[in-house]
Amino acid sequence: APPAKIIDGKAIAQEIRDELAKEVQSLSRSHNEIPGLAMVIVGSRKDSRTYISLKKKACEEVGMRSFIVALAEDVSLADVVASIRELNADPDVHGILVQLPLPKHIDEEKVLSEISIEKDVDGFHPLNFGKLAMKGREPLFHPCTPQGFLELLSRSGISIKGKHAVVVGRSNIVGLPVSLLLLKADATVTIVHSHTRDPDRIIREADIIVAAAGQANMIKGDWIKPGAAVIDVGNNFVDDPSRTSGYRIVGDVDFQEASKVAGWLTLVPGGVGPMTFTMLLKNTLDAAKNKVLQ
Ligand code: NDP
Repeated sequence: APPAKIIDGKAIAQEIRDELAKEVQSLSRSHNEIPGLAMVIVGSRKDSRTYISLKKKACEEVGMRSFIVALAEDVSLADVVASIRELNADPDVHGILVQLPLPKHIDEEKVLSEISIEKDVDGFHPLNFGKLAMKGREPLFHPCTPQGFLELLSRSGISIKGKHAVVVGRSNIVGLPVSLLLLKADATVTIVHSHTRDPDRIIREADIIVAAAGQANMIKGDWIKPGAAVIDVGNNFVDDPSRTSGYRIVGDVDFQEASKVAGWLTLVPGGVGPMTFTMLLKNTLDAAKNKVLQ
């Protein structure tokens, strides 16, 4: 079998960001409106801080504004809600995201429900998510990772209609919304999770595999049907003493093995990750456009 075509998410993301930067400029010229993204972060988790600073940088690169609201680990739910309400009312803020996970004492559902749906650029407000799950309904925003995943497929020329897609993982952030979007795009969808028996047997039937279990190198080469499209969402930190950082990032798919069998395979890092950030920018631009163009 020929080696897999490698899907370079970083390059595709850059292409889209160039398009977005032009649109940001023209919106600011035509309506004097600069898209702004507000990010609420609670506590000091290192990974969350890293993601926030990367998102801020991504905003700057396309000419958008960003606002960071950093709250202490022991903040009260009432204070988080008050911050969100302030952002809802702020005309310079078009998109609001709450960096997850929140500390245990803060009710995630309550917080996400407070975000104005017109500013819900992560697509996690229950009303947007509910519409995502319903046939014939469209949310104002799709969650960013699933949307980035779809964009990767379409820009790589991989069709979805009628295909059997197996999604490994069912989280609210990745697995479940990816499954719903695939279903909307007319795939036949199977969801594998931690209680699934014989996951390898099921995954082997897939034309499209979406790996989002958060388990390093879980999916082996012989779990993959020759020619299948393999999209690896996993972002797993594994110890690597040979690196100065002491770690490296690997996906949920054994890349070496998979590259000999799959038809398409995403890079990790540099696959779905850059697309996720790019879709956040796109949603923020769309929120700003919706505001001035309606
Ligand atoms: P979660 O831990 O919230 O969910 C993991 C899901 O995988 C759960 O549904 C779980 O099942 C399932 N699962 C876990 N182990 C197995 C297993 N051995 N076999 C089958 N299913 C399993 O993770 P997230 O969805 O938040 O993230 C998944 C991965 O994607 C992580 O590596 C994360 O870092 C990465 N990620 C990447 C992003 C990107 O942009 N590239 C964005 C967000 C996440 P159950 O429900 O039964 O517990």
